Amino acid sequence: MAADTPLRLLVLEDTEADALLIQRRLEQSGLKARIRRVDRTEQLAAALADEQWDAVLYDYTLPGMHFEDTIGLIRKQRPELPIVLVSGTVSEEMAVTLLQHGLNDFVLKDNLLRLPSVIRRAVNSAAERCRRKRAEDQLRKLAMVVEQSPTSIVITDTRPAIEYVNQAFLDQTGYSAAEVLGQNPSILNQGKTPPATYRNLWATICRGEVWNGEFCNTRKDGSVYLETATVAPIRADDGRVTHYVAVKSDVTQLRDSESRIHQLANFDELTGLPNRSLLLDRLQQASRSARQTGRHGMVLALDLDGFKFINDTHGYDIGNRVLESVAERLRENLSDDSTVARIGGNRFAVVVENLSRRRNRAATQAHDLAELIHEELQLPHCVGETETLVRHSTTMGLCLVLHDHENAERLLNKAEIALQRARDAGRNSWCFFNGEMQALVEARGRIENGLHQALEQNHLALAYQSQFDASGRLIGAEGLIRWNRPGEDPIPPGQFIPLAEETGLILPIGQWVLDTACRQLQSWAQHPRTRGLHLSINVSARQFHEPRFVDQLLEALERYEIQPGRLSLELTESVVLNDLHQTQQRMLAIRDLGVGLALDDFGTGFSSLSYLKNLPFHTLKIDRSFVSDMIATTSSAAIVRATISMGHALGLTVIAEGVETRAELDLLKDFGCNAFQGFLFARPVPGDQWQPEDQTIATS
Ligand code: C2E
Ligand code: MG
Ligand code: MG
Repeated sequence: MAADTPLRLLVLEDTEADALLIQRRLEQSGLKARIRRVDRTEQLAAALADEQWDAVLYDYTLPGMHFEDTIGLIRKQRPELPIVLVSGTVSEEMAVTLLQHGLNDFVLKDNLLRLPSVIRRAVNSAAERCRRKRAEDQLRKLAMVVEQSPTSIVITDTRPAIEYVNQAFLDQTGYSAAEVLGQNPSILNQGKTPPATYRNLWATICRGEVWNGEFCNTRKDGSVYLETATVAPIRADDGRVTHYVAVKSDVTQLRDSESRIHQLANFDELTGLPNRSLLLDRLQQASRSARQTGRHGMVLALDLDGFKFINDTHGYDIGNRVLESVAERLRENLSDDSTVARIGGNRFAVVVENLSRRRNRAATQAHDLAELIHEELQLPHCVGETETLVRHSTTMGLCLVLHDHENAERLLNKAEIALQRARDAGRNSWCFFNGEMQALVEARGRIENGLHQALEQNHLALAYQSQFDASGRLIGAEGLIRWNRPGEDPIPPGQFIPLAEETGLILPIGQWVLDTACRQLQSWAQHPRTRGLHLSINVSARQFHEPRFVDQLLEALERYEIQPGRLSLELTESVVLNDLHQTQQRMLAIRDLGVGLALDDFGTGFSSLSYLKNLPFHTLKIDRSFVSDMIATTSSAAIVRATISMGHALGLTVIAEGVETRAELDLLKDFGCNAFQGFLFARPVPGDQWQPEDQTIATS
């Protein structure tokens, strides 16, 4: 209480004069006080109820008021209010009795000098009692809160040994207080919490900071639970850390329901496949990785046709089993890093990553995958206890995931638009979103089918383009494949050869070319004019690396009784680059047979003469693009000149292809080129029209 605030004193006194006397006495001593006198029980009760008082001055000899009742009344209403007895006389016995009843002090009226200091002391000590009581109350409350808190609380010393645990801790862990006090809190850790968590915990609290994290602890009965924890250092007044407190809550159920929620939010309940929302996530990822790796991805949307009919005729249970069976087939036929999802009642979707970097190739891969899925889903499903056989057709839409960043929603949308288009076109088929790609894939399909037929029906032919030496003498020809489609435009080999490579059709085609060329050489061998001519044929990478290639070559040479030196194989750099060691071995085997080897299209690819040194080529063919640039571009001319002299230095014959003009020929001759091939001399002509007599020697 502030020193200048007057004390509020309630004076129980029947004599007005005595009350005034008391007031004067207090004023004289400098103690400011407001005094109110009462002399009846009702007045006392009202005053206690209505106003705040700092002390009661009490003359116990009031008529009609028994001291026990009076003190009882005051204590009941104001337990802390100091009561000072101020009386004319009081026996020692009475004083003791009164003190026992809760009186705080007493002053005799003839010694009122003491009164101010007695009042002050009584008021101060009452205030002190009040403070202490409040603090005790608070402590008691705090203890109750800690003890009854629903979260586990553990206090340890710095070793750390447990000093205190609350009831929630005991309930949670199943241990008794006696079992854990003095123990290290790690008794709860059976190795399920990652060691890194503890390292992090200690590093944090040793820095004097608060740590938050999660423990996976084990109860006394061995069961495991997850709890989030806050661990904080506790400091003494001098700042030293003396204890740690951990506050922990069990989150096992929360996590369980979280994972359940995750499951519900991201997966289809029936098939266990990702749902539309998770698929979109994965698609977004695929789009990102397409951008990073440069590889295409694809998304395919798929509808089971007539699914309603299945439900109607067989019932929902069978319908559900069919959906499960579809899910299983899709999963079985796709790699683990693909995503299969159910995105609607009878709609599924597939996301595949890591297709080719090349767009056309990626489109082909996507197409092949669609075909595979389509075929797999064509097989009947055997479902239900009755082993019902159920069939359905499937309609699909495809969209490539390209390098340009596109959002997942849009990509899936495109696949679904393509699906709609396929459905409009009459179900049970598939369609690309991109028209150009669709055309490409369809054309490819046509070419592939056509090539099969061409092989069977003998629509392939070899055309021969003559080759000459520097003196204009005919030295041989290159065999170039032609595909004659009855009633249709020819497709140039540059278009169908790469496709034949992809599909493997190049193997029978290559064998056919080899046979045809050998037959031609056999026929040339019959005539003196053609006996000395060479024939070169083109061999593609896949064909060359086929394990049986050298055997096939030998068989053909023997079957047609060819002088091996009459035949040459033209290889491109792509053949050579594949696997240098194997290429070298194989080329050596071919050289040992006596067959010539030419490096075709030199200058268009990697163009390194360094591997020429290590590979047994006989001939170097300068690509047509250099020859045609030579006149206009001096650098091309310089390259051709250098190539020719380096070829010679390596002991190779150099032939230029695509020679179209006299000027080109003259320059090439100047540079020392050994042989020539091109429209200036002859175009490729069909075998039956090719005559050595017709060859005009256009040189010199
Ligand atoms: P290549 O082996 O470099 O064949 C030369 C190509 O240039 C031929 O085209 C030929 O017709 C053309 N050509 C020749 N002289 C001239 C000229 O003066 N001017 C112009 N503009 N072009 C000329 P073609 O027949 O279309 O063959 C293209 C490519 O197809 C060949 O290039 C070869 O890589 C491949 N190819 C052709 N036949 C076969 C074959 O039987 N097997 C394999 N694996 N590939 C073949
Ligand atoms: Mg060639
Ligand atoms: Mg060439």
